[in-house]
Amino acid sequence: MQGVEFHVYSCTWCPVTFAVEQDCEDQHEVKCPICHSDEYVEDEGMGEMDITPTKK
Ligand SMILES: [Zn+2]
Repeated sequence: MQGVEFHVYSCTWCPVTFAVEQDCEDQHEVKCPICHSDEYVEDEGMGEMDITPTKK
C-alpha cells in the first residue's frame, strides 16, 4: 500500500473541491475544473490518499 499526498483546493465560485497530486509540477497554476479559472481557487491544505493496489 502506498500513501499519495495530494494538495486539496476548492473553488469559492463553484461548489467544488478537488485534489491535485503533490508531485504535479503545475501546482502554481491550478485551475478550477468547472470554471477553468484560478481566481477563485483556495488552498485547502494537504491531503493523503491511500492507493490500494487491485487485488488479484
Ligand atoms: Zn470554479
